[in-house]
Amino acid sequence: MVSILRALLAAAIAVAVMPQFAAAQSAYPNKSITLMVPAAAGGPTDTVARLIAESMGRTLGQTIVVENVGGAGGTIGLTRLAKAAPDGYTVAVWHIAMATAPALYDNLTFNVTDDFDTIGRITDAPMSLVTKTGVAAKDVKELIAWIKAESGKVTYGHAGIGSASHLCALLLMKEMNVQMVGVGYRGTGPAMNDLLSGQFDFMCDQTTNTTNQIKEKRIQGYAVTTKTKVSSLPDLPTLDSGALPGFEISAWHAMWAPKGLPKEATDKLVAALQAALKDPKVIQRFADLGAEPVPQNLATPEALKSQLASEVKRWDTVIKASGVKAN
Ligand code: ASP
Repeated sequence: MVSILRALLAAAIAVAVMPQFAAAQSAYPNKSITLMVPAAAGGPTDTVARLIAESMGRTLGQTIVVENVGGAGGTIGLTRLAKAAPDGYTVAVWHIAMATAPALYDNLTFNVTDDFDTIGRITDAPMSLVTKTGVAAKDVKELIAWIKAESGKVTYGHAGIGSASHLCALLLMKEMNVQMVGVGYRGTGPAMNDLLSGQFDFMCDQTTNTTNQIKEKRIQGYAVTTKTKVSSLPDLPTLDSGALPGFEISAWHAMWAPKGLPKEATDKLVAALQAALKDPKVIQRFADLGAEPVPQNLATPEALKSQLASEVKRWDTVIKASGVKAN
């Protein structure tokens, strides 16, 4: 009798405890999250990702581990993201190349609008025209004249076919009506190391990767690619204001997840992203590197979805008109 009572009591306790236990088990996130960067460590996207990962991890109460999966202009990492479990434990930070890839590549293994869930926009990073030290051009006009005079000989670094640095250089060559010789890397982090040691001549890269190197005179900065000047690099004019009117590109960054994320995970990721973009430390670091977090109303799945749709359209027209192609 006593043992039957004991068994009943144990069963009752188990039933009473189980729901909370189950809830605790399923509450998202209950383990570390992988934040994939489809480019090499030490580059501009890696910098943005690590900055927000730290802050988001604090909000979510879990470690966010950054994993670099560089190569092929980000498409290797994105192929992996599209196939990852949509459980909120694998997300990615990527940029404008998400919107340019459909026009640049003929055989993408993923669909940029159908295979990913949008979490939110992060920042719009200006790009800058830089060279190794020792290039004689004193300003952007002289830089363009030098590239023209040396057409076909000047070398430029980029983060792989279809990356932002590649697209920027392709558009510049088209505008200037010149050829340069491309040197591909898994990201502009490693490309920057080679520019510092003078292995190639020129790069169009995000200010998040170039600002400190320009300020410390380890490379030469000439212009920025945004419509307005960048406050952390006050000496650099915009291309639009003189040398190449109308030329504009910025490497906007955002967060994506595999398609089919549970609402709980999406909501918590969005809240953590928004908190990170209000974090004074994050704001300061972005400012030091010439970038700004987007306003809160743009750090949402809906804002990113419409940004992506309009950017895919915009770049489809620009890329087709310019005739540039990744393969
Ligand atoms: N986002 C790339 C990187 O972080 C650079 C690029 O797309 O140009 O290396």
